[in-house]
Amino acid sequence: MAMKTYTGEIAAGSSKGSGGVMTAAVLYGREDLRIERVGIPQLGEGEILMRVQVALTCGTDLKVWRQGSHPRMIQPPAIFGHELAGVVEEVGPGVSSEIRAGMRVVPSNSAPCDACLYCRKDQPNLCDDLLFNNGAYAEYARIPARIVKKNLLEIPENVSFRDAAMAEPLACVLRGIHETQIRPGDTAVVVGCGPIGLKFVRALSAREIRVIALGKRKSQIDLAERLGAYAAFDVSSMESPVTMVRDLTEGGRGADAVIEAVGSAATWQWAMQMVRKGGRVNLFGGCPQGSQVQFDPALLHYSEVTIKATFHHTPRFIREALDTIARGDVRSSDFVTGEIPLAELPRAFQDMKNGHSDLKTAVNPWA
Ligand SMILES: [Zn+2]
Ligand SMILES: [Zn+2]
Repeated sequence: MAMKTYTGEIAAGSSKGSGGVMTAAVLYGREDLRIERVGIPQLGEGEILMRVQVALTCGTDLKVWRQGSHPRMIQPPAIFGHELAGVVEEVGPGVSSEIRAGMRVVPSNSAPCDACLYCRKDQPNLCDDLLFNNGAYAEYARIPARIVKKNLLEIPENVSFRDAAMAEPLACVLRGIHETQIRPGDTAVVVGCGPIGLKFVRALSAREIRVIALGKRKSQIDLAERLGAYAAFDVSSMESPVTMVRDLTEGGRGADAVIEAVGSAATWQWAMQMVRKGGRVNLFGGCPQGSQVQFDPALLHYSEVTIKATFHHTPRFIREALDTIARGDVRSSDFVTGEIPLAELPRAFQDMKNGHSDLKTAVNPWA
């Protein structure tokens, strides 16, 4: 079978700026990520070229790397990665004069169309034509015009590139909290203590919400406590996490809200069983394709449980996330536990798959 190769425009010229050559991590398919020399992207109307200062690994990337592609986010071969921060290297034709070379920026990984039914109904995260961008794991990244226009933010002076690069996952978390209507004084359970679950723990605790965190590793449990959880438990050897959570709530009624941040049928069911009458559940973690989950309809009906399953983020929450980071409420030092040069990225994905990796890894394309 002929192997498709990545065809980023390779052109002769200076080694800097569009027209030159750069190092990038190209996704070719299932667990096939290669470090290659490719052409620095050429800019079209409204686009910018960023010098990537840092890119962060993410659970979504791990999922996509294992699948080899994603129907909406990335079709291989393509430069991989979506959480990044850096400096504007070059500005394409027609870009607003507010965006200048040398500016420190964080681009979102998507932008809605503002024209489809969902955008008109103020649900831009469900946009029929949501434009996704990949290309963070490289020395330079091209940012498409729509993202430049709608979802590219200047990084405040006091915010590091690494902190700023967390804006995208944090935006998903902040939107999840908003949609679940969790208020100060509530008790909320967070099921799952990966990078996303722990961001929920941090953001909820900062709002005076009593958080019960459930994780699977001692390091996660310790971190959940450090990030403000009222209680944190390792459920890997626990008989009944549901009973234990209910016992921690007033009258054993269950939590006001439960955030599921694992993505499995079993933990979705736990979430439904941990919530109180009239409470709210956010099934935030996406289950593997083909999963089936069973709920007791009587429990749902007579208990009036509200089920949400929030997906992705919107331009509003990208901005709120960067503001939250600028206030120091969420810091990358709690989540980014390792740094590697770009060349080591393929091995880092193997480590993630085998479960002995950092929580999040900062990839430095210039190391
Ligand atoms: Zn991500
Ligand atoms: Zn749209």
